[in-house]
Amino acid sequence: MIESNIKELISEQEIQLQINKLADKFNEMYGKEEVYMICVLKGSVMFMVDLAKRLKMPVKMEFIRLSSYGSGTTTSGNVCAVDFSLPDLNGKNVLVVEDIIDTGLTARYLVDTLKQKYQFKDFKFCALLNKKARRKTEIEADLYGFEVEDRYLVGYGMDIDGCFRNLPYIGYIEE
Ligand code: 5GP
Repeated sequence: MIESNIKELISEQEIQLQINKLADKFNEMYGKEEVYMICVLKGSVMFMVDLAKRLKMPVKMEFIRLSSYGSGTTTSGNVCAVDFSLPDLNGKNVLVVEDIIDTGLTARYLVDTLKQKYQFKDFKFCALLNKKARRKTEIEADLYGFEVEDRYLVGYGMDIDGCFRNLPYIGYIEE
């Protein structure tokens, strides 16, 4: 597949403006308190980095890896932790950063697992995109960047078969 098959849905500028707004909200919420950002690899990496650059409090970054998607655009529905090594987060402010909540199964697994393991001072979940039409479980992030329709998206961290994560915009594949 080549980039010319991808149609832009959310431009680079729109993404950056929306991240400014999210960062303003988190700066207001946390003030100068230390925050652990948890990035869910690999899809959330661009969002995590751009959001982190705009935060004004002391930020620590952690990375975890979960798996739910099979190949191409199909999800297996079975979420499992591939790498979940985190420091002791008891008593900490934690902000989980996700690229997209789709079926919600990954977010459900993540929130349940983290809350069983730790007593946080504060816990927030932020997703850049909300694809609500495909939800299979009741879960919502505290903050979203954009609502999106039921379409397979690529770019700005999101891939198809490992490609296109590097695009600065979010697009969909034109049939
Ligand atoms: P969920 O468990 O909510 O169905 O989806 C979790 C993960 O699947 C997301 O963090 C993301 O990595 C991947 N995903 C969901 N929807 C899309 C999509 O439209 N495009 C891409 N590239 N990945 C997606």
